[in-house]
Amino acid sequence: MSDYTLRCVLCGEEVPEQYTLACPRGHPSLLRADYAEKQLHLKNAPGIFRFSSWLPIHGTLPIDAGPVCYKSKALARELNLPNLHIGFNGYWPERGGKITTCSFKELEALPTMVRAKENTTKTLVIASAGNTARAFLQVSALTGVPVVVVVPEKAIPRLWTTVPADKACVIAVRGDYTDAIRFSREVCSLPGFIEEGGARNVARRDGMGTVMLDAAVTIGRMPDYYFQAIGSGTGGIAAWEAAVRLRADGRFGTALPSLHLSQNLPFVPMVSAWNDRRRNLIAETDMPDSQTAISRVYSDVLTNREPPYAIPGGVFDAMSATDGRMYAVSNDEACSAGTLFTGLEGIDLDPAAAVCTASLIQACESGNIDTNRTVLLNITGGGYERVREDHTLVPVQPAFCVSAGATAGQVNKELVEIVKIHE
Ligand SMILES: [Zn+2]
Repeated sequence: MSDYTLRCVLCGEEVPEQYTLACPRGHPSLLRADYAEKQLHLKNAPGIFRFSSWLPIHGTLPIDAGPVCYKSKALARELNLPNLHIGFNGYWPERGGKITTCSFKELEALPTMVRAKENTTKTLVIASAGNTARAFLQVSALTGVPVVVVVPEKAIPRLWTTVPADKACVIAVRGDYTDAIRFSREVCSLPGFIEEGGARNVARRDGMGTVMLDAAVTIGRMPDYYFQAIGSGTGGIAAWEAAVRLRADGRFGTALPSLHLSQNLPFVPMVSAWNDRRRNLIAETDMPDSQTAISRVYSDVLTNREPPYAIPGGVFDAMSATDGRMYAVSNDEACSAGTLFTGLEGIDLDPAAAVCTASLIQACESGNIDTNRTVLLNITGGGYERVREDHTLVPVQPAFCVSAGATAGQVNKELVEIVKIHE
């Protein structure tokens, strides 16, 4: 149960909550949730819902997926980081990790589904290249709340849940992620559907922000450095926003953690722009030949071409406010960091988390960080091998396929039928 208002970062004015994603005054800015409780009080609720006083929701769900933080021993020794803490957001029951879809996207999907249910009667539409789709399908499967998920056709093998997702409608687009986004906008133009919102959705950001809250509660203070691999950078924004709230709380320190964010070579647009201290991304400079670059990365979830970087309250502001650093990680560095982590800590990693681990190794080797200070390494996904030991993975099949550039009119009837059947 939380009491909150929405505010525009740019004008500071209050914005009415109707699953609102943007300032009604037309400002190109993120909105932020302003919580009535200025000190964090943990709730007696499962998983992520322990932090529900700082989530833009009133109710909770009986689902125990949530962030986990523990102090590293083996990797800490290897890297000579005596105060290394690992935020593990995946499946690893021995450590309390109960995210069965194995990625921190479930921390975004859980509060988003509650927020949508509390503020709109429309059906959520999510465009995703993989992990986000799986997270929303799982929450739909567990709650029976319908969702429409639009993915590029080649992402279908990544879609599975641990219980059948009977109320979800998956649309496969014969094209790439950008084509899927475009088609999801088409679906949202139909009555009865609403776009999920991505970085502009406060529930998604504050859901991810629980990784920082959980770390502060576990460690007893905010970390000095926060490491994460980024595609859109929304996780970095979320960590900063959570840290600002923790600073105002007064019990967790006064210095904001410095954001140490990483991308995967050869596609590193935000690294390129930040290293020039430029607010605006320039396509020719920051992501030349982007299609080829995207096809060559180890972790394709880190390849958003339109990240919320320049927008007020976005990645540039988060990096500026925390004196952050950006790292470009090669595929080889990511692979060997992933192998090192698994060998030392004992769990398999999502490729993005391997990129993040590689950036921490870079930071240690280059002297970018004071190795005696407190580090939070956000492992944004892992346990894909471990989850198969405990669960049968149920593949999710698309309800129908459309070609890239299809219009909403072509599928209107089918969609209305599907949603009717689901009701
Ligand atoms: Zn505004």
